[in-house]
Amino acid sequence: MLDTLKARIYQGKQFIKDIENAPMREQFRGFPVLKKGIDTSVCEGICPTGALNLNPLSIDMGKCTFCGACERACKAIDLTNGYKLASTSREKLIVTPETTYEDYLKSAVEVKKEIVKMFGKSLKLRQVSAGGCNGCEMELNACSNVNFDMGRFGIDFVASPRHADGIVITGPISENMAYALEDCYKSVPAPKLVILCGACAISGGVFQDSEHINREFLDKYPIDLYIPGCPVHPLTFINAILSYIKDKK
Ligand code: SF4
Ligand code: SF4
Repeated sequence: MLDTLKARIYQGKQFIKDIENAPMREQFRGFPVLKKGIDTSVCEGICPTGALNLNPLSIDMGKCTFCGACERACKAIDLTNGYKLASTSREKLIVTPETTYEDYLKSAVEVKKEIVKMFGKSLKLRQVSAGGCNGCEMELNACSNVNFDMGRFGIDFVASPRHADGIVITGPISENMAYALEDCYKSVPAPKLVILCGACAISGGVFQDSEHINREFLDKYPIDLYIPGCPVHPLTFINAILSYIKDKK
């Protein structure tokens, strides 16, 4: 008993106290800041997912794997360590030289009163890995560890869709997972949320041209939240959910 207490005192509090303002390491590749007037022709054909458009200059965070190739090649592109990347609008994920991180944070997530009222205190999510590489899935696991401790905000992953308020999709939705995904969605009681997590889920990512994916689900059902990344960092995920279900006003 004494040894346990000693260990607890020695370890201290391991969770990140202020998760909404948690520092991120400098090397993290996050929100892109684009500069006008610099020759970007060196980036021609460099982007593996077609996220980078050179004329006019823009980066689609829904397609971006944050690989850093364009940043290394060209001074017009700076992948900052801004990790709050989520949006309720697919269009807003497209960043142009006019988009500042401050403006993006203010407008990217549209907070709806009914969502805050319904899910603000408790949100249970079922995760569906629909053909991903396991990168996003591992980071989602990390959201519940002692460090990020997502459960303290009432947000948890649950084992059954029948106990869930929504689904979190990772992966590009492979043909083999298309039926299972829809089945899972139908098993979640209404009202329910659909959250796309990672470049694969949002756009197909590096698998977008594969003939073995089937993304019809996304045309059939409304999407509530898009969370970019490859993989999605736990701070990105937790802050995305908090920004959607908590009204800060
Ligand atoms: S960081 Fe994103 S936009 Fe740049 S090359 Fe990689 S995937 Fe393309
Ligand atoms: S977005 Fe990237 S990390 Fe996530 S499943 Fe796809 S390839 Fe893996």
